[in-house]
Amino acid sequence: MYLKKIKIPYHVQQYEAFSRRLAPAVLRADAQSRLKRGMAGYRGEQSLDYPLSYLPNEEFFILHNLRLFDGAHYFQIDFLILCPRFILILEVKNIAGKLTFDTELSQLIRELDQTTDVFDDPISQAENLNTQLFEWLEARYGSPALPTADRVVIASPAQLQVTDLKNHRIKKIIRRSNLKRALVKLNQQYSNECLDTGLVEKIARMLLVQHQPRIIDIFSTTPAEPNDIIRGVQCPECGETPMKRENRIWHCASCGHESKKAHLVALLDYFLIFGPAMTNRQCRDFLMLDSATIAKKILQAVASHYEGENRARIYHLSFQLLTEASDDEREAPGNEKLRVTTD
Ligand SMILES: [Zn+2]
Repeated sequence: MYLKKIKIPYHVQQYEAFSRRLAPAVLRADAQSRLKRGMAGYRGEQSLDYPLSYLPNEEFFILHNLRLFDGAHYFQIDFLILCPRFILILEVKNIAGKLTFDTELSQLIRELDQTTDVFDDPISQAENLNTQLFEWLEARYGSPALPTADRVVIASPAQLQVTDLKNHRIKKIIRRSNLKRALVKLNQQYSNECLDTGLVEKIARMLLVQHQPRIIDIFSTTPAEPNDIIRGVQCPECGETPMKRENRIWHCASCGHESKKAHLVALLDYFLIFGPAMTNRQCRDFLMLDSATIAKKILQAVASHYEGENRARIYHLSFQLLTEASDDEREAPGNEKLRVTTD
């Protein structure tokens, strides 16, 4: 069973909001290419849902996109699967083209459309994650009682080749279509029950509590300035901004579309770009509203709490309330105050 479901990672949602809201074309193109890479990775991970659905619910605990902090660094695991016999780390790659695994030089070479790109070797990446997780667990709870295994899953239909067929580490590379079989093999290989299911679930839940989503601070990691962000409520039909509010309804002058809730998406964009804190003035400014009374009503409906009085009042937008009305494929950033990291 999933303890942490497959959802679009928070930082990919941020790229999505940036790429729609950035005015300068060159910055927008950069955000769009980051979004494209992020979504390709996510789609690859999402495609594992089917093979993973064969794992018996009652003894396998699956965490998608788990990111932990070891006191000095963050490390992120695409899938962490725990059962009473072993812990499995899956590093997922969704890269098109011809892929050559060079285990000697620890690199992955991709050839596509007469272009060659070099990536870090995913086998080493998965092994490093294995070590990091082991040390993380050891530092907090003593030596883990469960053996840990790591595999690389190729989600794309890429053509694969290796430089050294004799290297046993090559066997860690699995095509998505073979994942089900590989899981059966792992189950046979690790047949000793080391912990009871209840304790394994407890460890999995404890790991979940420690998850720290990656949050991008765009204004310190790119040349973008807050003024580069397009303000106003965006039309969900044609994408034009701003929609105008009349009698509680947002109207699009460009295509005539009307919406009662279009401001929620705009506030979600604001949350993803600037963070959860918003004053009445910032709300009016971003939604391009004249009325402080309407802004107050809107903020009260979507804030989890506020601090301060009158003009200095700061509302804390609730990610959950803002997303409830839209899709549920989003990873929530956590209920604590947002930490901004730049890695
Ligand atoms: Zn429109």
